[in-house]
Amino acid sequence: MIGIVVVSHSRALACAAVELAGQMLHGPRPRIAVAAGLDDETLGTDAVQIREAIERVDSPDGVLVLLDLGSAVLSAELARDLLEPSTRERVLLSPAPLVEGLVVAAVTAAGGGSAAEVAQEAAGALAGKQAHLGVTVGAGEPAETGDEAVRGVFVVANAHGLHARPAARLVAQVRTLDAQVQLSDLTAGTGPVSATSLSRVATLGARCGHEVEVAVTGSQAAEALEQILGLAARRFDEVDELERAPAAVSAGPVAASPGIAIGPACRADARAPVIPEAEPGDPAAHWRRLREAIAATRRDLARTRARIGREAADADAAIFDAHLMLLEDAELLADVRRRIESGCGAARSWQEAIGVVEQEFHALNDAYLRARAADVRAVGDQVLRHLLGIDAGLASVDGVLVAGDLAPSDAADLDPRRIRAVVLAYGSPTSHAAILATAKGIPMLVAAGNRALAIADGTPVVVDGDAGLLLVDPPPDVLGEYEKRLEQRRRAQALAYAAAGRPAITKDGVTVAVNANIASVDDAKAAADTHADGAGLVRTEFLFQSRTEPPPVAEQEAVYRAIAEAFNGRRVVFRTLDVGGDKPLPFSTPGHEANPFLGVRGLRLSLRHRELLLDQLTAVCAVATDWPVSVMFPMVSTVDEVVAATALLDEACYGHRPEGLRVGIMVEVPAVALRAAAMLPHVDFFSVGTNDLTQFALAAERGNPALAALADPLDPGVLALIAALCRQAGEATVSVCGEIAADPAAVPLLLGLGVESLSVSVPAVATVKQRVREVDRAAAQALAARALTCGSAAEVRALVV
Ligand code: PEP
Ligand code: MG
Repeated sequence: MIGIVVVSHSRALACAAVELAGQMLHGPRPRIAVAAGLDDETLGTDAVQIREAIERVDSPDGVLVLLDLGSAVLSAELARDLLEPSTRERVLLSPAPLVEGLVVAAVTAAGGGSAAEVAQEAAGALAGKQAHLGVTVGAGEPAETGDEAVRGVFVVANAHGLHARPAARLVAQVRTLDAQVQLSDLTAGTGPVSATSLSRVATLGARCGHEVEVAVTGSQAAEALEQILGLAARRFDEVDELERAPAAVSAGPVAASPGIAIGPACRADARAPVIPEAEPGDPAAHWRRLREAIAATRRDLARTRARIGREAADADAAIFDAHLMLLEDAELLADVRRRIESGCGAARSWQEAIGVVEQEFHALNDAYLRARAADVRAVGDQVLRHLLGIDAGLASVDGVLVAGDLAPSDAADLDPRRIRAVVLAYGSPTSHAAILATAKGIPMLVAAGNRALAIADGTPVVVDGDAGLLLVDPPPDVLGEYEKRLEQRRRAQALAYAAAGRPAITKDGVTVAVNANIASVDDAKAAADTHADGAGLVRTEFLFQSRTEPPPVAEQEAVYRAIAEAFNGRRVVFRTLDVGGDKPLPFSTPGHEANPFLGVRGLRLSLRHRELLLDQLTAVCAVATDWPVSVMFPMVSTVDEVVAATALLDEACYGHRPEGLRVGIMVEVPAVALRAAAMLPHVDFFSVGTNDLTQFALAAERGNPALAALADPLDPGVLALIAALCRQAGEATVSVCGEIAADPAAVPLLLGLGVESLSVSVPAVATVKQRVREVDRAAAQALAARALTCGSAAEVRALVV
């Protein structure tokens, strides 16, 4: 029996259609898979999701794909291109109407129809309804194309003309209709061009005040004309203020990493990837690689677009629609394909074809439209980076990095010697990118909006990561003021560093280890120089990211050994791979998950890739024979997981654990905090990951800026979990390695709850040590007891400040 895939922009719509079809079936049923929406709520289609759905229901009899409209068709075509050739040839894309087509297809398939029969029946699915309503067009017949065009004229009212964003809006509308639309700029004398091609429309050069003629044919011609004229009257739903360059002082960024920096703005993705001289492979392989790179870029853009759509104004998100549209542009893709078929490599063909579109924008009269060439280049480079497997070019940035968003793997590459601060148009203050910036002492602002991306390279900017302030090209007196403050901070920091060599002992004489959270050998050296008492958390995943294969045991051992050597006898806690959530890994990340933070991540993932974990544990054990090191498992939920992980540890060291090797777990799952006693036979220590514990305890996603106030680790509920853990910990030590440990307000509270050591970002070590020296534990215990009775995080904060 054939399989059926339902592709729709809306998951709810697709599921409802499947339910409806299911009601028509009795007895055997065909397998039907849904590939719809970017998630349960976000409208969109994704080629990779469609490909996976096809693979799920694939059968030797074939697969019929039913689709809704617009980009669903392009995504489905792309998905078919991404399939293995043997699968691809039995997949049919159906032009049938989605709901009626699905019902007919399901019934015909259930009756044993061949793929061709099912496709034909589905294509005629409207016949009944049309006959009933007296419509004469035959079911499945192509729309008439020879009819006289209906015509209309509109005047462009958008301040910057019919540039990429309004053009994207127009193209998207036209694609939903059965209509062929041609546009001519009567004022400029350009055109006609097809309204289904974004690059064509935008290069008409239609400026504000120009008259544009619309000529439409097809079965929905009249409707299309009416909609286009309506859109034009609404200025294609564009909001003017977002189109302007930023004012001198930009408002709205959110502080994500503390500190002040001054420097020239520097766009990471302004640098073009370098194309290799020779690109091996035949044209078919080149085309396939390019389609995969486009699919990957579409996925990145769609995700960012969906997130921005939830967090910011729709108009902010609309810029991504224009970018997505460009990746579907039929003329652009046809040009690339011609070049590939004439023997040119995928990367060069793409670069040249994108270059043509970019030049067309450059040649336009209007300055604003000319500036849109940068958008074309940015998307083009994004595809090239996927194609060539290279990163965002952070290595050449010198000054204040300005970018849309940063993947954790890119953030891991930030070099504080060259990158003085980071300004992100999007992003969240609790993302891993923000944690990494904090760890490197790089001030960071997030959510600065699209206007941040309009800051020209080289413009002097001030980033105030304490106050959440971005000053673009400030006047000399303001700049002078910030230079003075920067100098004062440097002096205060120097004093704190001078005292950092002394241990952190509370007023009542208890020594508290203040360790460092690190993610590289360089971090380890910096932490040791800063007199961290050890490393309380080595985020080993950063050794695995940006690679296509896991690092071999010998390489891991060398890196872990270099880290241990840097600490020269101070204890180092290696956390095993913690990927998933917002830290995807190319070679082991699970497929699509609706809730990746609650998905196959951390230890769950490692236990499904035993060799990966075994290799890592082998490397740690080798180092443990020479240095005091610990191993720690992340995202633990159950005792069984710990038993399985420690069994692998024993396998890695052939049943003889190196003396001095300690075993611990992260406490990030609330159930573990409550059931710590059950873990005691298996562990020597617990380390509380308040970043995740808070998101799970309060059901507030850590990367979501809209929930930043809710996701406060000082919430009494989170504190109660830490208190429960400390009560049960017995001989095992309790540490906190989440970001809250570096908050001076939290230090007495955590010590009062029974926490014995802290692990913080390297730049915070000296100040946290200083804070510990001010704590009297009896007073801290009383404070903690009061905090546990508070009604909210705000009340707790009022208590401790
Ligand atoms: C945490 O969850 O608090 C933690 C330290 O781990 P990560 O931030 O790496 O998820
Ligand atoms: Mg965590």
